[in-house]
Amino acid sequence: MSLQVQSQVSLKPFNSFGVDVQARLFAQAHSDADVREALAYGLEHKVPVLVIGGGSNLLLTADIESLVLRMATRGIRVLSDEGGKVVIEAEAGEPWHPFVQHTLSLGLSGLENLSLIPGTVGAAPMQNIGAYGVEIKDVFAGLTALDRQTGELRDFTLQECNFAYRDSLFKQEPGRWLILRVRFALDRAAHLHLEYGPVRQRLTEQGIEHPTASDVSQAICSIRNEKLPDPAVLGNAGSFFKNPLVSSALAARLKGEYPDLVAYAQPDGQMKLAAGWLIERAGWKGFREADAGVHKLQALVLVNYGGATGLQLLNLAQRIQKDILERFHVDLEMEPNRY
Ligand SMILES: Cc1cc2nc3c(=O)[nH]c(=O)nc-3n(C[C@H](O)[C@H](O)[C@H](O)COP(=O)(O)OP(=O)(O)OC[C@H]3O[C@@H](n4cnc5c(N)ncnc54)[C@H](O)[C@@H]3O)c2cc1C
Repeated sequence: MSLQVQSQVSLKPFNSFGVDVQARLFAQAHSDADVREALAYGLEHKVPVLVIGGGSNLLLTADIESLVLRMATRGIRVLSDEGGKVVIEAEAGEPWHPFVQHTLSLGLSGLENLSLIPGTVGAAPMQNIGAYGVEIKDVFAGLTALDRQTGELRDFTLQECNFAYRDSLFKQEPGRWLILRVRFALDRAAHLHLEYGPVRQRLTEQGIEHPTASDVSQAICSIRNEKLPDPAVLGNAGSFFKNPLVSSALAARLKGEYPDLVAYAQPDGQMKLAAGWLIERAGWKGFREADAGVHKLQALVLVNYGGATGLQLLNLAQRIQKDILERFHVDLEMEPNRY
């Protein structure tokens, strides 16, 4: 018996919004055996098990009447290294950004655009994390998950994960798959993606003409540090809404009314709108009520100034959704997982 189950634990240090709710039971998994023990404990005591990683994509709106199991498994290993392609595997509890830095220190390219995203390796496939023109599906080489319905382990290929924009099979089947470890196919030669946002411009400003993957990572870290509030200082969960996909007809109509509308054509003919633009245009940027607010510099980020409850943040998000629907006829979908 290595699993330590505690009662009535505050989840404030375990969610990046810093919302103070209690978990009825709380434990940390340091091995596959701990995971199985926690699931058995849940069955035996008839209490659901909620798996979390870094808590950076959670909105906790009430005390959690579950056993909250925080993934703290560690381990990184190179599985193959042939012809310039390296497959590397990391345990679910590995913190994401240090893992990215580790791959860069091995001279591997592929994850640099995903630098400084908070959270763990195991949660990354949940919403197919993405930033600066790269998503994990672009470098994904497989994962191993525990099927909580059958207790069996299953290896997933890229095709089986149904990855899409901030979406995956694991998100579509909530609570079924417990991701234990994830594999990535990285390159010894750098194939850099510099076109998105101000990445190339930042490198040029730094006088870097022929960047390495590490240079790109550093540039992205500096951009992110300027743009996004640090959850350690100001509670937040990053982008609170997904960028909505709309028909080209609606996008054209909106463009007629708002010539500065930010919209990107998608391969399937739809248009992706910048949710942050819509929210800012509707006047919400910098809004604050009690301790729940919209960040002063980044309209897509809801923030907790200290004492906001999850319900206050949810209420603010719902008011924004309603306003955007009325003004622009666009449905905004929340990104964080709500419990
Ligand atoms: C400042 C900031 C910036 C961010 N920037 C980005 C960004 O650029 N791009 C982006 O995509 N996201 C971004 N995010 C969101 C977040 O960092 C990612 O979604 C991250 O992958 C969440 O990891 P986590 O370990 O914190 O997951 P958690 O928040 O702990 O959990 C998220 C969900 O995954 C489930 N889960 C967690 N671990 C497992 C597991 N091992 N097996 C099965 N289910 C699991 C949980 O039950 C929950 O439903 C940002 C967040 C913040 C706070």
